Amino acid sequence: MNIAIQGAGIGGPTLAYWLHRAGHEPTLIEEAPRLRTGGYVIDFWGVGYTIAERMGILPEVLEAGYSFGELRLLDARGRRVGGFSTDVFRRMTGGRFTSLPRGDLAAAIYRAVEGRVETLFGESITSLEEADGGVRVTLDGGATRDFDLVVGADGLHSRVRRLVFGPEERFEKRLGYRVATFEVEGYRPRDELVYVAHAEPGRQLARIALRGDRTVFLLVFRADVMQRPEPTDLEETRALLREVFGESGWEAPRILDAIDAAPSLYYDRVSQIRMPAWSRGRVMLVGDAAAAVSLLAGEGTGLAMTEAYVLAGELGLATGDFRAAFRSQEARLRPFVEGKQEAAEGFASSFLPRTRMGIWFRNQVTRVMGLPGVAEFTVGRTVADDVELPEYAL
Ligand SMILES: Cc1cc2nc3c(=O)[nH]c(=O)nc-3n(C[C@H](O)[C@H](O)[C@H](O)COP(=O)(O)OP(=O)(O)OC[C@H]3O[C@@H](n4cnc5c(N)ncnc54)[C@H](O)[C@@H]3O)c2cc1C
Repeated sequence: MNIAIQGAGIGGPTLAYWLHRAGHEPTLIEEAPRLRTGGYVIDFWGVGYTIAERMGILPEVLEAGYSFGELRLLDARGRRVGGFSTDVFRRMTGGRFTSLPRGDLAAAIYRAVEGRVETLFGESITSLEEADGGVRVTLDGGATRDFDLVVGADGLHSRVRRLVFGPEERFEKRLGYRVATFEVEGYRPRDELVYVAHAEPGRQLARIALRGDRTVFLLVFRADVMQRPEPTDLEETRALLREVFGESGWEAPRILDAIDAAPSLYYDRVSQIRMPAWSRGRVMLVGDAAAAVSLLAGEGTGLAMTEAYVLAGELGLATGDFRAAFRSQEARLRPFVEGKQEAAEGFASSFLPRTRMGIWFRNQVTRVMGLPGVAEFTVGRTVADDVELPEYAL
C-alpha cells in the first residue's frame, strides 16, 4: 500500500521503517524544512528501547545517550535539599535506560529510513478526502497525491487529527502546567551527569549539562501562577518567563538572561490527548497525535514507537484489511497507554506543590527514593510496561 505519514518525529519514521520492511511504500510528510535536531532531553526505556533494539539502532541511541547519575534538588541559595541517585531507574529497568536529546533519537530513527523512504520536507497536508478506495490529500504547496491510507504522526497539536476528527479542545486534557525548554552554549556552572533543579511553590527550573559545552534548561510552572495571557510569540514567551521566574532564587536571573541568548525556545501546555477512537476510515493516528501521555509520564517516545510498530505488524497480519488492523492495534495498546495517562495524571497533583511545606515534603520523599521499594512504590507504575510486545514476521 501507499501510505502517507504526516510527521517525521519519533512515531512517523518508526512506522515508515516497519512499513517499508513489510513491502509497503510509505511517504513521510514533514512541515519542518529539515529534520528537527536537539531539543529537550528525554528518558528512554521500556518498550521503545526494545523496538530500537529490533530496528538495529540501539548502538546509535546509546552513543548519543547520557547515563545521568543523580537528580539533585537545590534551595534558593544552591544548597542540596533533596534528590536521589538515578540508579533506581536502572534498577527498575534492568539497565535498559538512557537519556538523550529528543532530536538525537529522531535522527537515529530517521537514518534507518533515509534514502529508502520518500520524505517531503517543508510540506503539510491541508486537506484530505476519502474517495475511490483511497485518500486524496492536498499539500501546502497545492499539489495533490493519492494514498491508500494516511497516518497522522504529527504530534500533540496534530493537524491530521484536526482535519479528520475535529478541533483539539475536544481531545486535549490539560494537566495544569506550562513547560519551556531551550539550549545554550557556554553556560556556567556545569554539573556533568547531574540533573540539577530548584523548585519554589508552583514553579521549577532545571539544567542538564550536555556534550559540546551545551546546557539544556527545563522550566515548568503551574498555569495558575501566570498573570498574563498565553504568549503568542517569542517575545511574549520571554516576558512570561520573566514574570513567572523573576522573583525566583538560585540561578534564576542567569537562566532568564540565557533565554535571551537562546536561538530557539520551546513553550507549550502540558497536556494529554484522549480520543474515543484512534482511527476513522482510512486515517489513523499514532504517537502524541493519538494519545499523548505528556512529559509527566516520561515515555511518550517509546509509546509512539510502539504504536507505530504494532500498526505495521497488524497491517501485515490483516493482509489488506486495514480496518481490522486499525482495530487490533488499538485494542492491543489502548489499555496500556491509558494506564500511562492515568498514572501521569495522578502524578500531576504532586509534581510541583503549591506551598513551601509541599515542596519541603516532596524533597523529603526524594531523599528516600534510593531505599529498597520506595521508588517501586512511588514511580513504579510509571516506569513499568505492562504490555506484551508482539513479534511480527516483518
Ligand atoms: C519537555 C518535554 C519532555 C519530555 N520528556 C520525555 C521523556 O523523558 N521521555 C519520553 O519518552 N518522552 C518525553 N516527552 C514526550 C515526547 O517528546 C513525545 O511523546 C514524542 O516526541 C511523541 O512522538 P511523536 O512522533 O508522536 O511526535 P513528535 O515527536 O512531536 O513529532 C511530530 C512531528 O510532526 C511534525 N509536524 C507537526 N505538525 C505538522 C504538520 N502540520 N505537518 C507536517 N508535519 C508536522 C513535527 O515537526 C514533528 O517532526 C517529553 C515532551 C516534552 C515536551
